[in-house]
Amino acid sequence: MAYELTTWNLDELYPGFETPELQGAFDNLEEEVTSFEGVRDKLKPDMDVETFLQVVRASESMTRIGNKLSSFVGLSFAADTQNQTAQTYMARVQQFGADMANRTLFFSLWWKELDEKNAERLMAEAGDYRYYLEEMRNFKPHTLSEAEEKIINIKDVTGTGALTTLYDAITNRYVFKLEVDGEVQELTRGALMAHAQGGDPDLREKAYQELYRVYGEDGPILGQMYQSRARDWHNENVSLRKFSSAMSVRNLVNDVPDEAVDALIEVTRKNSKIFHRFFKLKAKLLGVDKLRRYDIYAPVAKSDKKFDYNDATKMVFDSFRDFDPKIAEMAQRVFDKEHVDSEVRKGKRDGAFCASINPEDTPYVLLNYQGRARDVATMAHELGHAIHAMLASHHTAFTFHSSLPLAETASTFGEMMLTDKLLAEEKDEDVRRDILFKQMDDAFATILRQVYFALFERDAHKKIQEKASVDDLSALYMENLKEQFGDAVEISDEFKWEWVSIPHIYHVPFYVYAYSFGQLLVFSLYKQFKAEGESFKPKYLKILSSGGSESPAKILAEAGVDIRSAEFWQGGFDVLSGMVDELEKL
Ligand SMILES: [Zn+2]
Repeated sequence: MAYELTTWNLDELYPGFETPELQGAFDNLEEEVTSFEGVRDKLKPDMDVETFLQVVRASESMTRIGNKLSSFVGLSFAADTQNQTAQTYMARVQQFGADMANRTLFFSLWWKELDEKNAERLMAEAGDYRYYLEEMRNFKPHTLSEAEEKIINIKDVTGTGALTTLYDAITNRYVFKLEVDGEVQELTRGALMAHAQGGDPDLREKAYQELYRVYGEDGPILGQMYQSRARDWHNENVSLRKFSSAMSVRNLVNDVPDEAVDALIEVTRKNSKIFHRFFKLKAKLLGVDKLRRYDIYAPVAKSDKKFDYNDATKMVFDSFRDFDPKIAEMAQRVFDKEHVDSEVRKGKRDGAFCASINPEDTPYVLLNYQGRARDVATMAHELGHAIHAMLASHHTAFTFHSSLPLAETASTFGEMMLTDKLLAEEKDEDVRRDILFKQMDDAFATILRQVYFALFERDAHKKIQEKASVDDLSALYMENLKEQFGDAVEISDEFKWEWVSIPHIYHVPFYVYAYSFGQLLVFSLYKQFKAEGESFKPKYLKILSSGGSESPAKILAEAGVDIRSAEFWQGGFDVLSGMVDELEKL
């Protein structure tokens, strides 16, 4: 069968917006929420297991309907962002979801407050729900009284919530001016960054300078907002909730031990030299003595080889089949069920993603396929996500989604399998070089860069407690960049404002390391695969089929991986070092 560029078919979810099926789902959910409100009186510490499990199952049932509704609406919107019906339904589903969350909140509050002995008694019989229930209770020691929690919720809306909204409102209004082909253009950040990462060295420099000229003008105010955010974070989480550090809050959300995150950060610092070698190589290819920070993402592609869509699907399936025929079949099922939206269309969302809805559903994949080598890699990546969900389909709606630190395992591993196959078969040196450069560019952006952001956050939160000024923080950021890039990259002064331009560190403190964690984990697993061969495969498939039914540390420990050990993380860097070796030879 030959595959063509197409849109997807959402009929399996609902036949359309104005249909009795969709309206029925809203009604159904409303009924279930009303009936769930009625179980409040049944929640007693000594309640029997069967009644308890009925409550959990009822909660899962609501979640399933909610998942299906929000996916249908979200996928319709992604396929056509100009569709006003989809926009209207998006708002309706969001409002419905918020109401539903409020009306059912009592269950998780009760569950967190329940005494240890009874919680253990109920969890022992909860089967696959166990980890879901356990995770909720992880926060018990850091939970305040109901009255205090309510005050924090109310004050957050106008406090931290308002502060980050204000940050967005200010920075989203920025207009960047850049002279392109003799004409001054007014650009959004996205359009400006296309020039910052484009092929013209002069424009790259001017684009970055404009970016930080604009952020720098508001730097003192944006910096002050960051200080407030960090102080609030400390006051609430360290002073009131008694977390041991600002970062360990996030670690508990990710259910990853502090020592594992510390090991990841320290090993990354030790291996920054691998990237320095890579940047020196890039300088050579660009024909300059030393790379400027402006040139980090400069394209070096020489080949413009195009891959036909059907050939691309075949290459991806083949590379998966080499690992295990079962996963190739799963990838193919996504196509055969018409769950792939691959064509480029006006109004369609940019980029790519995979949506896994409920355990029994075949996931949906959105691509914008244009035939470049990186589009083939993206296809392998998103299909990896789909396979991950399909392998975990025997879990509940609460536990089949892998948790954040493991979320990129199958996707990145899928890309690695494809890359291996491409490199093994490709004779053209330019194409080989492009493939390896793409891998290293991505590894820099997701591993080194994000770990150094996390390092900055850790230091900045600490320094802010010691009354650091905005200028002190900018100086701290420059030191961070100097360590990150060593002597391989020239860093100009305006980069001292880069930190105030990173929304993540305002919105979700310490989120960024999850990217590095996930990516490096896969390189480390890949190293293990190369060393162990066949015997690695069942272990790997078991990791994937665990979904989110256990803590990441436990899932990986069962495969013989200790995420607290520096040695394990070093394995990932050995793979990257091998890629740079390869590039140096070309
Ligand atoms: Zn991904």
